[in-house]
Amino acid sequence: MKRLDFTNTQVASSETARGINRGVVLNLIRRRQPISRADLARVSGLQRSTVSLIIDQLIREQWVVNGPMGRLPRGRRPTFLRLNDRRAILVADIRPTQITVAVADVNGRFLSQERMSTPADPASAVKELSARFRHLMELHAGLVFEGIGISVPGRFDELSQRVIFAPNLTWSSFDLRGPLERSMGMRVDLENAANACVLAEVWFGHAERDRDIVAVTVSEGVGTGIFMNGQLTRGWNGMGGEFGHVSIDPDGPRCACGGRGCWEVYASNRAALRYYHESKEASDGMTFEDLLGLADGGDVQALKALDKMAHALGKGMRMIVAGLAPEEIVIVGEFARHWQRLGPVIEEEVAAGVLAGKCPKVRPAAEPNMARLRGTVALVLKRHFRAPEHASNKRKSAQSRPSIARA
Ligand SMILES: [Zn+2]
Repeated sequence: MKRLDFTNTQVASSETARGINRGVVLNLIRRRQPISRADLARVSGLQRSTVSLIIDQLIREQWVVNGPMGRLPRGRRPTFLRLNDRRAILVADIRPTQITVAVADVNGRFLSQERMSTPADPASAVKELSARFRHLMELHAGLVFEGIGISVPGRFDELSQRVIFAPNLTWSSFDLRGPLERSMGMRVDLENAANACVLAEVWFGHAERDRDIVAVTVSEGVGTGIFMNGQLTRGWNGMGGEFGHVSIDPDGPRCACGGRGCWEVYASNRAALRYYHESKEASDGMTFEDLLGLADGGDVQALKALDKMAHALGKGMRMIVAGLAPEEIVIVGEFARHWQRLGPVIEEEVAAGVLAGKCPKVRPAAEPNMARLRGTVALVLKRHFRAPEHASNKRKSAQSRPSIARA
């Protein structure tokens, strides 16, 4: 990691070193499974005996299992190792009107999924979520549940343990984690939806090295999740990444945050619906999905509304490019199914804002509907797979290896 730490006075104990090596081995298995002990030693640069000790421990702890036998031209057939997919995570994606709850295994495969409408207040949400989670655990009684990961359309302050900013949800500052942990008797990790999406990209993406990457989520609002210098950038009070609420026009339409003319007022799904209504009489109950349907059928006003939204998205993304200069921007949104038409509009707007150097790669997320849920899986798992805090800059040899993920 390139992180500079001028306050670190902690010396790596042998326990810390063991923790780092354990994270390295676990991540290598995750990314390269099935993999043999010999290959693990070769790729990690660790001694064979060290690898064996770590593997024995990981097998005892049920993180890793012996997989299929390998084939070699001659000699002993090696046993391959893989992650134990009987280990599972409960996840939920909370959105303003709908919540998706699901069970995923350690490899991010979803075993079942259910939807419910979003309760009116956090207390009812704890009750209803607990009931759903218990039901899912009964359905998958053979699995070992590791914890709960939740994505929220708001910012989570780690200090106060509260969601302090969720303008598109009608709940005000609330604690979801504590009550849910007490109700379920299991650790709960909570994260902003855009942060979850960027984690999903880093954790499940195929890149073998860390990139500076920003995820832009486009739904009821516009959020951004920032992954820089090998880590999620949460900022003071967890408020980092609120580009969506930078006011572009102080006389613009009212925003859910209380301000006027915020970027998301021009670039969200709601904005596209407003553009459509401005151009054409439409029924009040029309949803963004309806608008996409009209665009699929070639409705000119619907396509124009989406174009306008895409221009606004691209223009606003110039803030991200100027401020953070990421290598890649991933867009997570249902509108991306019209990427062929809208992608070039966004790319052109972004390119126009690049001052010098290369333009960041702008692309849609592979499965926009799953990104938040996938991110919550990574959120729960990363605790076990990463090196202990402050220790990762102690082991130079491990840093330079491309295959080690540090999410
Ligand atoms: Zn706003």
